[in-house]
Amino acid sequence: MAIPNIRIPCRQLFIDGEWREPVKKNRLPIINPSTEETIGDIPAATSEDVDIAVRAARNALRRDDWGSTTGAQRAKYLRAIAAKVLEKKPELATLETIDSGKPWFEAAADMDDVVACFEYYADLAEALDSKKKTEVKLHLDAFKTHVYREPLGVVGLITPWNYPLLMSTWKVAPALAAGCAAVLKPSEMASITSLELGEVCREVGLPPGALNILTGLGHEAGSPLVSHPDVDKISFTGSGLTGVKIMTAAAQLVKPVTLELGGKSPIVVFDDIHDLDIAVEWTLFGCFWTNGQICSATSRLILQETIASKFLDRLLEWTKNIKISDPLEEDCKLGPVISRGQYEKIMKFISTAKNEGATILYGGERPPHLKKGYYIQPTIITDVDTSMEIWKEEVFGPVLCLKTFKTEEEAIELANDTRYGLASAILSKDLDRCERFAKASQSGCVWINCSQPCFWQPPWGGKKRSGFGRELGEWGLENYLNIKQVTQYASPNEPWGFYKSPSNL
Ligand code: NAD
Repeated sequence: MAIPNIRIPCRQLFIDGEWREPVKKNRLPIINPSTEETIGDIPAATSEDVDIAVRAARNALRRDDWGSTTGAQRAKYLRAIAAKVLEKKPELATLETIDSGKPWFEAAADMDDVVACFEYYADLAEALDSKKKTEVKLHLDAFKTHVYREPLGVVGLITPWNYPLLMSTWKVAPALAAGCAAVLKPSEMASITSLELGEVCREVGLPPGALNILTGLGHEAGSPLVSHPDVDKISFTGSGLTGVKIMTAAAQLVKPVTLELGGKSPIVVFDDIHDLDIAVEWTLFGCFWTNGQICSATSRLILQETIASKFLDRLLEWTKNIKISDPLEEDCKLGPVISRGQYEKIMKFISTAKNEGATILYGGERPPHLKKGYYIQPTIITDVDTSMEIWKEEVFGPVLCLKTFKTEEEAIELANDTRYGLASAILSKDLDRCERFAKASQSGCVWINCSQPCFWQPPWGGKKRSGFGRELGEWGLENYLNIKQVTQYASPNEPWGFYKSPSNL
């Protein structure tokens, strides 16, 4: 597919089906991470805009054109959104690449996932119609109970920058499928494609207010959304630090939250792997894909001692072969990280590892052929101790650290030696061992003989400090539904008989 030459659209906030200037008229720069140049700007919402957007969302729920829709009607909108995204795929992928630095072909694959996710939730929206009202069998004949699954209300969706439009879609598609009205707050680091989703919604005629999109800073736009008394739920994906702030603020209003946070996931490689090169490639992909900025990055390589030397030699050869370049270049496999701040943070992790006694076996520097842009070489760190920062903390960059093990027991212990619990991976020919590992892993997702493939049908989410709640699949839809019990006394002519009736005195 040809990469189009593109102009950055200048958008406003998307509220009530139209583009609106922020009340305070503030804007934030868009910086291309591969050139460090400012290439445009996005509107910066504040609490005043949050109020307007939440009101628009609430009104949408009161109006028949959204509030009274069936799942089948909402499915039509979701399918229309999917079709428009597909039509605009080359343009959207290019915008995503310029904004976030991810290689164009990865951005294009993200757009395919966006399309598939909207289509998948269109199917679930249709299926919801027959499950909207279900009977619950009771042990008494005098009562009848049924359960309604109804939209939760107005939901606030706050997303990060590593998969900008895809992370927004993981929340927007099920929220709309369920019949909620949503206010989306994408990351200020990469908001372009989420704003373009507003244009898509306008073009397909999504009823006004069903989806509102507020770009802006976390403390100015995200925080008032979380604390807004008329927002019924917050679904958040981002860092643990922000997750704690969001949970604390939401707790003041007893507002439910779903938290998809960071990780420090392990990949355990046993000496009975099927094939050395295949195992090496999954190890690289597990950590360096998306420029190393993957929440579930398997960034702790736990390697069986017996194959360590052979495996490392091959890992180095493959790593040296990774093409680092402008992410719009064909065959780019590693682009820049998102921002100067993130670049400096990652470099600090590498220098701290060195100061704590670890060895930078490969990388750890800016690639010599790229003088500008937030580029970091794929980095492999050995001689790592479990007390080191590099073993414990999420780097969110292309940095892999390594420890060896002797026995399966030790491998499982090392894999679970983290306060996070998002994902884990095991590479081994022995499927019984893989099954034992999957059961013992303290995480929300386990990959066997691979790392990272993520589909929209199974559940996604973590345990421990990686958060709670599940996105994707039917679990993703449940996030946006209220379960209401309706119980009827089915013998209205029979007295209840708890108190003495005055007529019997
Ligand atoms: P971040 O926490 O800095 O920001 C995420 C979002 O929260 C942004 O939209 C930001 O503006 C907003 N925000 C910041 N402060 C806020 C506040 N006080 N109140 C409300 N909103 C606020 O995270 P990031 O740097 O954008 O993303 C990287 C993190 O996201 C990593 O830790 C990564 O592991 C995690 N992540 C997790 C998953 C997952 O599925 N578990 C997926 C992708 C990314």
